[in-house]
Amino acid sequence: MDFTIALVKGDGIGPDIVAEGCNVLSAVCKKHGHHVRYVEALAGGAALDQTGVPLPPESLKKCQEADSVLLGAVGGPKWDTLPSNLRPEKALLGLRSGLGLFCNLRPAVIYPQLKDACPLKDAIIEGGLDLMIVRELTGGIYFGKRGTTENGAYDTMEYTVPEIDRIVRNGFDIAMARKKNLCSVDKANILNNSQLWRSRVEEIAKEYPEVTVSHLYVDNAAMQLVHNPRQFDVIVTGNMFGDILSDEASQITGSIGMLPSASTRTDDFGMYEPIHGSAPDIAGQDLANPIATILSVAMMLRYSFHLATEADEVEAAVGKVLDQGYRTGDIFSQGMKKVGTKEMGRLIAEAL
Ligand code: NAD
Repeated sequence: MDFTIALVKGDGIGPDIVAEGCNVLSAVCKKHGHHVRYVEALAGGAALDQTGVPLPPESLKKCQEADSVLLGAVGGPKWDTLPSNLRPEKALLGLRSGLGLFCNLRPAVIYPQLKDACPLKDAIIEGGLDLMIVRELTGGIYFGKRGTTENGAYDTMEYTVPEIDRIVRNGFDIAMARKKNLCSVDKANILNNSQLWRSRVEEIAKEYPEVTVSHLYVDNAAMQLVHNPRQFDVIVTGNMFGDILSDEASQITGSIGMLPSASTRTDDFGMYEPIHGSAPDIAGQDLANPIATILSVAMMLRYSFHLATEADEVEAAVGKVLDQGYRTGDIFSQGMKKVGTKEMGRLIAEAL
């Protein structure tokens, strides 16, 4: 295969971790005879410094023309006092909407080698944890009508049937490729749009008879994630509930530097990025854990290019290097071998 990847390195540790993601992507492509071309696109604080805006139009164009995007992270204290329309984080919203990315995939996986980082009791995560949160990304309360009144403020939560159907179908498709178990999370005991959401899930479920479907209210889902997270395979939910639950799930794994994410749409295009931010406290010091970005590359191979073997190999290479005892500072424990960003990337590429 031949593909073009837009690289949005961003700020802080962004350039360091994207470099290692590219090393691993290039290594797996070389092994399997694929040709990958990289095109750099400025966004975030780096773009503000050079062009005065967080997402220059030519950066969006480069991303639109690529087959997929690999993003590091944006933001940092240098730009924190700017007005909100000039904050680096605006670039993320601009990329999501400009690229039409309505589906956010956030896996939460506990690697057996790192299970001590999980804040839950051993008995709760005995047997491992591997769940996927499918979050609607461009609708709901974050995009509804909002305003202030003389003595208050309001935000509205609205979903249309097409908006619900496309994300719910994505959830079912992903469940079909996993353990065929889908939990839809809503607040249907209170919210009208959640009642609609639930009825659409029931309707679409008829197209996927192999998938076991359950429904949970969001407050119960938040409890179940810490009480018994192993009951979940795929969770599909709206924008705000998904935002909150995916952060909760990431904390269960205990290692923010290990978790990838994808933002996708109905075709194969996707934007892939670690869930963590730009970690300005450790930027440029060869301290960042590049594994979340490397696992984002694995997601890109799997979801955008349908290269499941290559994706499996990248994930296996990460597992192998962890088995050998190599750790960056954030996941280091006594008796392990501490390495920096570059060395971790090199070891994973070599393990391929
Ligand atoms: P953060 O995720 O950047 O950092 C939180 C803590 O985790 C820090 O101690 C950091 O050193 C550590 N950490 C994060 N990633 C790591 C990695 N790969 N390896 C080792 N340690 C890692 O969150 P924050 O400090 O709240 O935010 C910093 C900046 O990042 C802010 O400007 C914020 O707006 C931005 N941010 C960007 C994104 C994004 O680009 N998607 C997401 C979240 C935050």
